[in-house]
Amino acid sequence: MGMVTQKTRGELIRNLFPELPDYRFRQTEEAVFHAGWKSWNDVSNLPGEARAKLAAEVPWTSWTAADLHRSAAGDTFKTILGLPDGNRIETVLMKNSRGQWTVCVSSQVGCAMKCAFCATGTMGLLRNLTSDEIVDQVRYWLDFVASPEGPGSRISNIVFMGMGEPLANYENVKESIRTVLKRTDIGLTRITVSTSGMLPQLEALLLDQDWPDVRLAVSLHSADAKTRAQIMPSSYEGFLERLKNWALKYLAAKGGGRRHLTFEHIMLGNVNDSPEHAAKLADFAKSIGDVRVNLIPYNRTDAGFAVTPDARIRAFMDVLERNGITVTRRKSQGDDIAAACGQLVVRKS
Ligand code: SAH
Ligand code: SF4
Repeated sequence: MGMVTQKTRGELIRNLFPELPDYRFRQTEEAVFHAGWKSWNDVSNLPGEARAKLAAEVPWTSWTAADLHRSAAGDTFKTILGLPDGNRIETVLMKNSRGQWTVCVSSQVGCAMKCAFCATGTMGLLRNLTSDEIVDQVRYWLDFVASPEGPGSRISNIVFMGMGEPLANYENVKESIRTVLKRTDIGLTRITVSTSGMLPQLEALLLDQDWPDVRLAVSLHSADAKTRAQIMPSSYEGFLERLKNWALKYLAAKGGGRRHLTFEHIMLGNVNDSPEHAAKLADFAKSIGDVRVNLIPYNRTDAGFAVTPDARIRAFMDVLERNGITVTRRKSQGDDIAAACGQLVVRKS
């Protein structure tokens, strides 16, 4: 992509203080998560000289502008973050069923996968986000929730369901998760990475000792190969078989206890939402094991798919449930501020 690799916050700090002892370095990492601290000048446990040097040389956060939107219902917030290179990304805060907050983060500017129903896909891939840029979306909402004008309660969950394909930015996503686990009280089972199904990366993470065992959700969207290929151009011959083999290995290695696997299934009117499609999905899921299905109502985009009526979603769910499959239905929120899944799209300013 011919882009300059950006230095991470940590690299900038190491360059600035080549002799920095480890405990001091750790203090700088902790400082950016400290509630209420807004700049390096606030970091009272560092010597004044170091604070001044940091304030002059190292950005406290990776975004330079933040444009906050609130849904009428007050259960969803969306912020467009401006990055120094002029790119913009979106991050969302949603009230969840426990009355706490879920942060939805972007992992790339745009996305190369071009799924037919997704607004982000129409942008193409502009670039990967750095781990700091991912982490700083979480920091943005941690600050917001804790601020006097914030909505109260706490952030309990993080989902990688914003702009981009997280596994196409594997190393930075991994690093960002490791940082969040280290610096916040958000635990492994409260973080979900959603992927369009990048099998080389899914296979790699099974062998990767450093990969944090967060929850995984695979955007299946159809267990019928032909239908899937129509709506997801990243699909290819043999995909479903390979996904199944991977899923069996995944569950054997990580399954049990609170671990399961989720298949996401968007409901596109008369495309993948018939009882026959549900039966095929049920068979596929049952051939694997402890797989759950998350049905996602289609949020309107320029692609112009039809929204599946409620009764038809119900019927689809019934087929799955009769086959003993745990199925959840995502509630759509924030569509008045275009903050719903698949509606995230911003052009360069
Ligand atoms: N790229 C990853 C994660 C980001 S998309 C992935 O595709 O899984 C997060 C979820 O939103 C995916 O399940 C995706 O299929 C879904 N989505 C995309 N466009 C949508 C739309 N218009 N309406 C509802 N869900 C959509
Ligand atoms: Fe990319 Fe996910 Fe959108 Fe597909 S649904 S284009 S993988 S962000």
